[in-house]
Amino acid sequence: MSLSQILPASLRQPVFGRARAMAAKEGIDLRNWDTLDRHIDSQMRFQTLLGMVIVAASTAVFAIIAPGKLALDTLLEVSCVVALQVITLALPTRLRRLRLALEGLQIIAFASVILLMAGKLQPDERIFHVFATYLLLGIATPALPYRPAYSALFVAGFIAMLALVLPLRLPNGIPFLSMLLLSVIIGIGSWVLAYRTWQLTIENLLLAESHRRRLDELEQANGRLKILASHDPLTGLANRRHATQMFEDRFVKAADTGVGVFLLDIDHFKAFNDRYGHQAGDDCLRSVAETLGYFARQYHGIAARYGGEEFVLVAKSDGARHAARIAEELRLAIERIEVPVGEAEAAATCSASIGVALHSGAENPTLSHLLSLADEALYEAKNAGRNRVKLAA
Ligand code: GH3
Ligand code: MG
Ligand code: MG
Repeated sequence: MSLSQILPASLRQPVFGRARAMAAKEGIDLRNWDTLDRHIDSQMRFQTLLGMVIVAASTAVFAIIAPGKLALDTLLEVSCVVALQVITLALPTRLRRLRLALEGLQIIAFASVILLMAGKLQPDERIFHVFATYLLLGIATPALPYRPAYSALFVAGFIAMLALVLPLRLPNGIPFLSMLLLSVIIGIGSWVLAYRTWQLTIENLLLAESHRRRLDELEQANGRLKILASHDPLTGLANRRHATQMFEDRFVKAADTGVGVFLLDIDHFKAFNDRYGHQAGDDCLRSVAETLGYFARQYHGIAARYGGEEFVLVAKSDGARHAARIAEELRLAIERIEVPVGEAEAAATCSASIGVALHSGAENPTLSHLLSLADEALYEAKNAGRNRVKLAA
């Protein structure tokens, strides 16, 4: 049985194995990734604060279980740890590496203070303090937001400190080498946990990032789809369905101010197409749509393409005279449109007939009713010779 069969997949892969593939797919540089940095910062802040609570609590417990033994030197040692914690919290975020180093250092310093405290106790009580340091090593290593290399450095530093301080405070009857061996075993075990924790942290952050990006893409695609479904692709104006929706949203409630519906149909457009070609016809439709859009903006209304060469403008209107003036302005603006049609002729012009229907009064208007009235007026305008405005009776 080979080593690769014994080890779980998560350990066989280098820490960045799967994560690196995910990051590459998202175009993320793991060495320089804001999200990871923010995660490390928040973890560090949380752990330093937790560390402060632990230091204060364990000093208090020591004062209670060993009354009178909390000498000035121990208090000074504890203050050094607290000072390190305060500095870690106060340092600016951009000094991340220094803060990370101090974070590890304060834990090692606190563990050494625990061992030094042990010296003040009876020999049989000291073993609890030694185990407290082992516990600290086992818990802190996977909890620190360290890359595996830094994690290994932390474990090595911790064990080096134990090797230095243990001989000073060696409890009776426990051989130094066994104590050191135990700390090495705990160190390796906690480093493996740290390795796995780091891997999972990165993968988790990457998954959340990729999820967020897919959601953004979906929202954008959804927005584009909505526009496609509600607008005419040739002119970019609202289509019939969207115009009806907008009319209900914006004009039904404003019925008391008066609403004008202007139904516009380009005159002899079939002949225009036949004479200048379909492309020129499309250009003409776009120019008419642009003019209509301008009117819609000016009168805070709605412009829509209703059919081939039929357009609708909805605008607030203060009565027949006002509506007739808007319609006449619109007709003249369309008359002035010039469609480039190549070298032979400078530009083509067109005209439109406009049927206008008005609504005022207490009842809510409906677009379909106003449009059928405007359509009758448009029919009259066509019959009367085209290129003119007619108001519905
Ligand atoms: P009238 O003055 O009575 O309105 O005559 P008309 O020729 O404008 O009316 P008709 O309904 O006979 O013809 C409409 C023409 O509009 C026919 C069609 O080819 C053209 N048309 C419809 N949609 C488009 C389009 O998207 N692009 C172009 N270029 N032409 C279009
Ligand atoms: Mg028509
Ligand atoms: Mg027409």
